[in-house]
Amino acid sequence: MTDIFGRFGLARVINATGTVTRLGASPLHADVIAAMAEAATASIDIAELQSRASVVIAGCTGAAAGIVTAGATAGLLVGAAACMTRFDPAKMGLLPDTTGMRNEFVVSRTHRNSYDHGIRAAGARLIEVGLPDRLTGCGVRDAEAWEYDAAIGDRTAGMLYLAGSRSRPTLADVVRVAHAAGLPVLVDAAAELPPVANLRRFIEDGADLVVFSGGKALGGPSASGILCGRRDLVGSALLQQLDLDYVSDDWQPPSLIDKTRLRGIPRHGIGRSCKVGKEQIVGLLVALQRFTQAGDASRNQQFAETCAALMHHLSGLPLQLRIIHDAGHGGLPVVEATLRDPTSSVAPAAMPAPTAPLSAVQVAARLRAAVPAVHVDATNADHEVLLLVPTCLTAADAGAIAAAFAAALSPG
Ligand SMILES: *Cc1c(COP(=O)(O)O)cnc(C)c1O
Repeated sequence: MTDIFGRFGLARVINATGTVTRLGASPLHADVIAAMAEAATASIDIAELQSRASVVIAGCTGAAAGIVTAGATAGLLVGAAACMTRFDPAKMGLLPDTTGMRNEFVVSRTHRNSYDHGIRAAGARLIEVGLPDRLTGCGVRDAEAWEYDAAIGDRTAGMLYLAGSRSRPTLADVVRVAHAAGLPVLVDAAAELPPVANLRRFIEDGADLVVFSGGKALGGPSASGILCGRRDLVGSALLQQLDLDYVSDDWQPPSLIDKTRLRGIPRHGIGRSCKVGKEQIVGLLVALQRFTQAGDASRNQQFAETCAALMHHLSGLPLQLRIIHDAGHGGLPVVEATLRDPTSSVAPAAMPAPTAPLSAVQVAARLRAAVPAVHVDATNADHEVLLLVPTCLTAADAGAIAAAFAAALSPG
């Protein structure tokens, strides 16, 4: 039987890379799919739906408010727009032209990344501080709070912070400096789930706005995310994402948008380019509720079982296998497969030496060329390591993955 991809001449792949966008992000639970299917046939007031979403998101994050965005990067875009324009409809209409506005976000050089395009797309400028000095071998300090402070000027709109287990300075230190100057801190926590506790952590540390991806561990649609935080900023962000073709001045926005602070109804805002549909909103909300209620333990248990099945099926192959808890994958269990000891040019004695040893990059390419294709995490391939991430797998995939490895590792 031809599946939906077959109808378009494509074949589905086995994803042992994790919830990456390029492979379609998170698989959706049946409850999420059912909610999206039900919403898809209905008409609903989107502003009111986002206002209800705010209540759900506030309950799960401890933030005063929250909206569903078209991904974490879209959340950065409308969040930055909110920091720069607040409730001024004239400024909203000008973006991404920020002439005459506070348009600068202070950010550590170490926190710069491809996703900060979202901030820049709103018209903001990034003002980099710190010099991590990593490659010299003598770089002992990352950016420090005083450097953020020194970069504040009369064009500063806020600070951008990339959350991560090794992020420096601490968020609390950046918040202290920012708040002393009356400035908001926007936190990119897109990939910081799990643990569930991180839904609240950055708000507790004083962040004014936080974004999370919907399509990663949350298990929501790929093109969904959360922007949560201060009510005024979230309200401004929502305003710049909504369809505002209201003809009459008796426009009654939901309470999340404080109409008394607006001198008129804005035109469509910069966030119209990343609008969110009813299916994404309800899909994200149901996924968020499931993620929160399921808790970390049951999720880890399920991933541990998948890892155990992988270990079992791969055990006969010339690979060094172990289960690690990788910080890059939210501390989840991940199977690490090492092709050879990277410190020696000979294969370990326990392993049959292949005639012409393949590099991990070559093995990953052969796995991708298999039928069905198997995609692994090759981030550490230059250390001859391939990672098998369980988040988009079930234990039932282990056999096909092992068969693909066996074929990929066989000489010739
Ligand atoms: C994945 C990721 C994003 C992008 O998230 P989307 O929801 O795909 O827009 C942004 N920032 C960081 C740090 C990420 O890891």
